Amino acid sequence: MLDKYACLRKLFSLRRDEIVVTTMSVAAPWARLSDGPLDFAMVESSMGQAPAFGLGLALARPERRVIVLNGDGSTLMCLGTLVTMAQNPADNLILVIVENGTYEVTGNQPIPGAGLVDFETLARGAGLAHVHTIEDAGDFDACLPLHFKGPGPRVFTWKVRGAEEPVPKPRAYIRQRALELRQALGQ
Ligand SMILES: [Mg+2]
Repeated sequence: MLDKYACLRKLFSLRRDEIVVTTMSVAAPWARLSDGPLDFAMVESSMGQAPAFGLGLALARPERRVIVLNGDGSTLMCLGTLVTMAQNPADNLILVIVENGTYEVTGNQPIPGAGLVDFETLARGAGLAHVHTIEDAGDFDACLPLHFKGPGPRVFTWKVRGAEEPVPKPRAYIRQRALELRQALGQ
């Protein structure tokens, strides 16, 4: 099992100008590492939509890498997005499924299929070819550079230990953060 916080620190250490979209139990810990215009906390919005949002960004801005840090419960809410990602492959899109087995920010209720569902199999079944499951720190260090490389889209499942992050509270409303992202992208 991985430590979510250690994984985020390592990802941050290699991050340059990638857009990083965060959700739920990852949003606050990532914001403590980086909270600029290219860090988009996909909260106060429909749960599960972050991979579709990231795909749209990646298709619209092929010169930019987009890293979406999604949850396991969030991924289950919009499983069809995996199919859309395969149908419209974006070389510059990375989806990380942070698998802790629970809806962490609302009190760690188990997700449907906790311990049964295999996200790598789901992603491959959707037609995605570059899929990785990471279970320990050694695997994580070996796979870390792939989080910044094509060919994409790539999907990683980080199998993390449980934690107790509360509901994230971004520094500004989503409308303001969306405006800042657009400005940072020169639009
Ligand atoms: Mg979860």
